Amino acid sequence: MAIATINPVTGELIQTFEALSDTEIETRIGLAHSQFLKSRSIPMSQRTEWLLAAAEILEQERDRFGKLITLEMGKPIKAAIAEVEKSASVCRFYAENAANFLADVLIQTEASMSFVRYQPFGVILAVMPWNFPFWQVFRFAAPALMAGNVGLLKHASNVPQSALAIEEIFTRAGFPTGAFQTLLVGADKVARIIEDDRVKAATLTGSEPAGASLASIAGKHIKKVVLELGGSDPFIVMPSADLDQAVKTAVTARMINNGQSCIAAKRFIVADEIADQFIDRLVEQYRALKVGDPMLPETDIGPLATSGILQDLDQQVQTSIQQGAKVLIGGEPIRDRSGNFYPPTILSDIPKGCLAEYDEFFGPVALVFRVPDLESAIARANDSPFGLGASAWTQDETERDRLIQEIESGSVFINSMVKSDVKLPFGGIKRSGFGRELGREGILEFVNVKTVWVK
Ligand code: NAP
Repeated sequence: MAIATINPVTGELIQTFEALSDTEIETRIGLAHSQFLKSRSIPMSQRTEWLLAAAEILEQERDRFGKLITLEMGKPIKAAIAEVEKSASVCRFYAENAANFLADVLIQTEASMSFVRYQPFGVILAVMPWNFPFWQVFRFAAPALMAGNVGLLKHASNVPQSALAIEEIFTRAGFPTGAFQTLLVGADKVARIIEDDRVKAATLTGSEPAGASLASIAGKHIKKVVLELGGSDPFIVMPSADLDQAVKTAVTARMINNGQSCIAAKRFIVADEIADQFIDRLVEQYRALKVGDPMLPETDIGPLATSGILQDLDQQVQTSIQQGAKVLIGGEPIRDRSGNFYPPTILSDIPKGCLAEYDEFFGPVALVFRVPDLESAIARANDSPFGLGASAWTQDETERDRLIQEIESGSVFINSMVKSDVKLPFGGIKRSGFGRELGREGILEFVNVKTVWVK
């Protein structure tokens, strides 16, 4: 895949970038490693200052960075600016909390003194996706840099300008040369980078095949990885739910980021008793959404990020229809304009064995399943290869407790959509990956947990 900015609204090629040569990659890894050796003597207070300066730059230039995000991947401009602000917030969170998270932990044993100390690994490779081009990178970089690691970013090939802007932000914030570098390289260079002895660990946010490939190479070289992969999150609605809130949230939860979010609600599992009402209202609200130019503030849904994603989504929907699923709204790409536009779509009556039961649909397509009771709702939710997040709507405490206990996923949100919060760990189970980002757990992924025992 060429490294290029292509406007998803028009298909226009804005700028292409030359991939780094092997020699250039070698130089950058060398720089990262030597910076890590020097950075051991940099106090945490200095890193705090730099990270706060990065937050400041993000906040002051939110509009400029927001426009860049929208230009490269097509999310509505308001959401792009909010993403920049959220990226600033994760910098502030770790700047303020890293010292506490990484303080020595004293443990009483028969030793005169025993404790746990957290020390950085070294050079960490981050392979990142285009869907939240700033947020995904900052949620890795803020804790990793605060812990004293250095970062190498291999960003998605369709967001090179965002990737370069992020490196520039860290440099302007004061981080020394080599502390955070963007490598403009294709996916074919990832193996060579992980195999390098100076690279100690890797994190990947993206698809299952990419995650499996990275993890197998890292495994061969006994290196730690964190994988944040796909999801097909359930959104369960029980009869006691506040239906107004549930429907309103169901729209945002599915349509966020033009439908291209790993934690978007994708499977709507609705109790028979209220299914007709819920579905009718969902269709009505989807119909009211404004699809159009993401640079305009009134737009709800912009184009999909690339023409390939549009083709894949169209293929999935067409196959599901051929397999018996019913289209309630939408169902095919918008063809009377240029760009990668796909309308809000709802598929219902999804038969057994249909690919919509198990595939991740990465676009504005809601999959609706009716169930007779809580038992079947939980079984349906768990009948998925993924286990990222889950949202469940009920006013019944017994139901709530069962949903929390029995749903197989990295998070459960009751009467709310799934969202990431800097204070809370984020990640999945099953084929959604392993390891956690954010919260205290996030910063502990890339540190050596060193046990110290003094007689
Ligand atoms: P993708 O193709 O896997 O791309 C993600 C990143 O991996 C890109 O930088 C890509 O580089 C690189 N890559 C692709 N193939 C690779 C390989 N074989 N080895 C190493 N790196 C490789 O993902 P996508 O389809 O663009 O993104 C959507 C997926 O990401 C969805 O499944 C979504 O659910 C998931 N996602 C998960 C989370 C989470 O937090 N769990 C968040 C966001 C997205 P190139 O661009 O150069 O190919």
